[in-house]
Amino acid sequence: MHKVEEGKPDAGLVDFGAVKQAVSLEAVLCHYQVQGLRKGPHRLESRCPIHRGQRDDSFRASLGKNVFHCFACHASGDVLDLVAAMEKCRLL
Ligand SMILES: [Zn+2]
Repeated sequence: MHKVEEGKPDAGLVDFGAVKQAVSLEAVLCHYQVQGLRKGPHRLESRCPIHRGQRDDSFRASLGKNVFHCFACHASGDVLDLVAAMEKCRLL
């Protein structure tokens, strides 16, 4: 049972916007030990951790926008979408 603290109406609720800004895709990819990770000045390339393909350049992530796209399985989204895909769950 969740109790809301007085004066903190958002206590216990996750601020998804803040999480998306605070957590980098690079950190998440490292957390999942993604293979073939290469970092360029503006983007990351790696083997896609979602469809587990064999190509090292199918998965691209923009460092500036903190979003990703896979050219093979067409998965795309932000850092939370990646975690949801990796954990096989979805955001409510
Ligand atoms: Zn993929």
